Amino acid sequence: MRIYGSTTDDATRCVHYATALDIVAIKFRCCGRYYPCYQCHAEGETHPAVRWPAAEWSERAILCGECRTELTITAYRQTTSCPACGAAFNERCGLHAHLYFEVPEPAPEPTPEPATVPPEGIRE
Ligand SMILES: [Zn+2]
Ligand SMILES: [Zn+2]
Ligand SMILES: [Zn+2]
Repeated sequence: MRIYGSTTDDATRCVHYATALDIVAIKFRCCGRYYPCYQCHAEGETHPAVRWPAAEWSERAILCGECRTELTITAYRQTTSCPACGAAFNERCGLHAHLYFEVPEPAPEPTPEPATVPPEGIRE
């Protein structure tokens, strides 16, 4: 399992987030690559990060840096420690959830989705 970005150790800590609890890497939907954080993704890629829509949270896109178990996004969001090895995760990551997953949180620029665009009205 390759982790991209500016990692500083084998537990996926990076130059941006390196506390004892920052042991999770996230696979980005756009490139399928694991990065320790969104800043690492921004530095390592030229494309904007694509977040995981709720419909795809059954994907294993979270990597525990401690035991290398891959968790689904749903499982990760329901826990504060690794179900496999018990390592504690950084609860403050929840503040950044909207950077990785499509959650109904601060949405400064709403992204219109084709499926939800109402049909065009009858023209004159
Ligand atoms: Zn990407
Ligand atoms: Zn980083
Ligand atoms: Zn683990």
